[in-house]
Amino acid sequence: MKGFEYLQKELDQMKDQGTFRELIPLESPQGSRVKIKGKEVIQLSSNNYLGLTSHPKMKEAAEKAVREYGAGTGSVRTIAGTLQMHEEYEKKLAKFKHTEAALVFQSGFTTNQGVLSSILTEEDVVISDELNHASIIDGIRLTKAGRKIYKHVDMKSLEEKLKESGDYRTRLIVTDGVFSMDGNIAPLPEIVELAEKYEALVMVDDAHASGVLGENGRGTVNHFGLDGRVHIQVGTLSKAIGVLGGYVASSQTLKEYLIHKGRPFLFSTSHPPAVTAACDAAIDVLLEEPELIQKLWDNTKFFKDGLKSLGFDIGISETPVTPVMVGDDSLTHKFSDELFNEGVFAQGIVFPTVQRGKGRVRTIVTAEHSKEELQEALTAFERAGKKLNIIS
Ligand code: PMP
Repeated sequence: MKGFEYLQKELDQMKDQGTFRELIPLESPQGSRVKIKGKEVIQLSSNNYLGLTSHPKMKEAAEKAVREYGAGTGSVRTIAGTLQMHEEYEKKLAKFKHTEAALVFQSGFTTNQGVLSSILTEEDVVISDELNHASIIDGIRLTKAGRKIYKHVDMKSLEEKLKESGDYRTRLIVTDGVFSMDGNIAPLPEIVELAEKYEALVMVDDAHASGVLGENGRGTVNHFGLDGRVHIQVGTLSKAIGVLGGYVASSQTLKEYLIHKGRPFLFSTSHPPAVTAACDAAIDVLLEEPELIQKLWDNTKFFKDGLKSLGFDIGISETPVTPVMVGDDSLTHKFSDELFNEGVFAQGIVFPTVQRGKGRVRTIVTAEHSKEELQEALTAFERAGKKLNIIS
């Protein structure tokens, strides 16, 4: 079809530069091993931290919800699409997160967009870590608020930005709880102290910490014992929780405000019953099966220790998100391809997702992996790493 030549030109340039990526369909359910291109490989690229995507209790809850309530809801939440189960789930989530209220959005991405774009005006300022997730960046782009970016987890830089922000009505500090490309944890106690000193609000995106950090996976705020001192906790229901969606856990005031002003909430159809029922079952699993989180962390330690003893650089990771640093973009993709030949699916991440020259193969082990699978993966890393001179 004519008219898209300018787009095709850009895609061709990406192909020349080696940054064009095909989507890679799984030919099996998500799991510790998956089938890709007809080959069974160890999955190290999913966010399915606890293996909940196919947990029997989740599947059963989803199936039952479809049978009883159907496939979809037929409306946005604010018109005719709020089911009782949506409200019950939000109450349960708020209780779990130890907050006054919770509100579910269609995805983690739209949660960040919806919150940031609706609660800030030109009278306010948002102060954001430079490595925050794209959805935070896009949310900030949608506001008319002042914008200040502080150096990654650098508290001196944050304090400077707070000092410059005295004249604004509201100062909102926003940070990822766990950074998605490096796996380090935000220094939340220090952030909260600075926020209290400069009378700022704090918003944490717990996409990679929900179900991973804190008691029963309650997240970064709980992990640091900061319950009640962080104003807005945002998270996703699509990673460790294993389904789809995003949430805000905060005050009743913020919830009611977002119901009226949060555009993705207002103008997009509510979650199908199967999604909400499975998310609801996930909270039960987190409460009833804490051994899953224990296994995730045991596996994380085993795999990280193995990578380090092979001589790989895993950067500053403190969580299951473990980057294996490579540097050069095309070598990063070659490493990922070689790992695939060796039976491991671990995607390369390069510019623009990370800085130029900071290419990496990002790995995430899950609670589903056995030690044997992880050992097999380490052997594959050793062979591929040696072949490409990434380790000696
Ligand atoms: N925040 C962070 C830090 C993330 O890593 C992601 C997922 N890539 C999101 C938000 C968006 O979550 P979702 O996939 O539910 O839209």
